[in-house]
Amino acid sequence: MSGLIVRLLLCDGLDDGEVCDAELTATPDVTSLTQLRTIAFRDLGWSTRGGRDLCPRHNTRKAATS
Ligand SMILES: [Zn+2]
Repeated sequence: MSGLIVRLLLCDGLDDGEVCDAELTATPDVTSLTQLRTIAFRDLGWSTRGGRDLCPRHNTRKAATS
């Protein structure tokens, strides 16, 4: 058997009380969650501040400034 560690970033946002199901899967060349957060923030519009990860849809900080 072979094992595979998949790094995932999950949105902490809520939709009517339900946790958002948005997730971001790291490509194999991404070797840490920190690196994945950097890419998500820089390239994909995620917010990764304050211990919460928010998908572009829940990233109100970004929406407020654009
Ligand atoms: Zn979300």
